[in-house]
Amino acid sequence: MALEQLDDLYREIIMDHYRSPRNKRHLDSPSAQAEGNNPLCGDEVTLELAIKDGVIEQVTFQGGGCAISQASTSMLTQSIAGKSLEEAHHLIHAFEDMMVKPGETSADELGDLESLTGVKKFPVRVKCATLAWHVLEEALESYSGKGN
Ligand code: ZN
Repeated sequence: MALEQLDDLYREIIMDHYRSPRNKRHLDSPSAQAEGNNPLCGDEVTLELAIKDGVIEQVTFQGGGCAISQASTSMLTQSIAGKSLEEAHHLIHAFEDMMVKPGETSADELGDLESLTGVKKFPVRVKCATLAWHVLEEALESYSGKGN
């Protein structure tokens, strides 16, 4: 798929996050972290989370790969910061639903993430868009698994 096939507005948002990724740095002592990759495309994402009193205060990432995967990760770090663990789970599911279910999805709460809906036309790239979200889910599971 070529990004040219996406709507202009969506492409601009994605390229902006790709060129100027938000929160791409290490955290000093993350409360949780996880990593994942998408071998089909060569995308890699590592997330680090700072969690305090049930709230995800910060999410940062490291990684490399295609514009879709990196832009989705950058958007994730922005949308998840400040959310409770419960809200984060809700957002993960809302995003995954938006990416896998046919038709229009109401994406009010998703903000910039809505730009990724254009990718639905290219099923092989949906894995690029959802990679970071699976990594987030894993990070949250490992966090609750530690008895937090
Ligand atoms: Zn990719």
